[in-house]
Amino acid sequence: MVVPQRLVMSQLVSGSAQALSQALLAWWHDHGRIDPALKPWMFTKDGRWPAPHEPLCVFECWIAEVMLQQTQLRVVLPYWQNWMKVFPSVDALAAASLEQVRLQWQGLGYYSRARRLHEAAQQLVGRPWPSDLEGWLALPGIGRTTAGGILSSAFDAPVPILDGNVKRVLARLTAHPRPPARDDAQFWSWSEALLDPDRPRDFNQALMDLGATVCTPRAPSCERCPWRLHCAAYASGDPCRWPVTDAPKPLPFQVIGVGVVLNAAGEVLIDQRLEEGLLGGMWEFPGGKQELGETIETCIVRELKEELGIAVTVGDELITVEHAYSHKKLRFVVHLCAWEAGEPQPLASQQVRWVMPDQLRDYPFPAANARIIEALLGRLQGQSQA
Ligand code: SF4
Repeated sequence: MVVPQRLVMSQLVSGSAQALSQALLAWWHDHGRIDPALKPWMFTKDGRWPAPHEPLCVFECWIAEVMLQQTQLRVVLPYWQNWMKVFPSVDALAAASLEQVRLQWQGLGYYSRARRLHEAAQQLVGRPWPSDLEGWLALPGIGRTTAGGILSSAFDAPVPILDGNVKRVLARLTAHPRPPARDDAQFWSWSEALLDPDRPRDFNQALMDLGATVCTPRAPSCERCPWRLHCAAYASGDPCRWPVTDAPKPLPFQVIGVGVVLNAAGEVLIDQRLEEGLLGGMWEFPGGKQELGETIETCIVRELKEELGIAVTVGDELITVEHAYSHKKLRFVVHLCAWEAGEPQPLASQQVRWVMPDQLRDYPFPAANARIIEALLGRLQGQSQA
């Protein structure tokens, strides 16, 4: 079937953009996620959806927008609610330690966001909130779509957004023939062309709601979509062909030997990852990549020697945890170890610490390590009851 892609593109840069925008807003009025239980930061303190140009709490919108980066609303909501109890203002966030901030973020993923929020809060204390794109983009951890989300949500400013949901909707609407990431400028111009200048807050929320609830990745509900009659992907009969993607590369797979090292006092050894890189600043149990031809026990002994300067005896397997990141898959094979010799040193980390097992919950750990903690506590409890 011929896809009327050119027609849709020209609609987006002509007066029809306004018709699309109005149709979307009408749909959103009846079917959008306009619910204080879902997006509390989008409501006034007396529980209303804000009137045009009525400002909202910038702090609340900022935290929500950063949490929503690559993360779904249902996952974000409990984190946002807890966060507001612990850090109710930019002053409270700036005054907290980075460790406290990471603890609140634990489990939400993409951990550099927590560090950057903390840095940005320290830059913002005592200053008025930025009210334009440049001001927000100058802060750590804020890209163009996050800045657009904050400005349109908090100030009702006419600034477009372009997150993953929006890219998918626009790629389908236009049946765009290439992966959206290759044509960023084009997608931004479409998002801007569609934006209702009189109701930018409502429009951006409506666009996100359409992507999250109707134009979903695998099973779009086109029969419920206000743009169905304008949508080139729908006209093709197979909307899931868009967005076009590059052929996926297989994820590299690695086995990681991990040592849960206990000393005679019953303390367990943990280390804090370097600040830069994946999971920067999070705590973990020490270990590293298994090399070709190496047993897991040999791997653990070698890694602990190289990274901490200690000698251990490797004991029973505690647990095996599979974990997929966006760019690699890991299998953590975790063994209990007895510390034998050597003062632990942070040769490949920021710091190392002996802690009692019941104190482990006071440290921010990534998701895979949280499962190791559960297994360790379960094993220790079983031993104490035996
Ligand atoms: S008609 Fe279907 S594919 Fe097109 S924008 Fe709507 S939900 Fe998405």
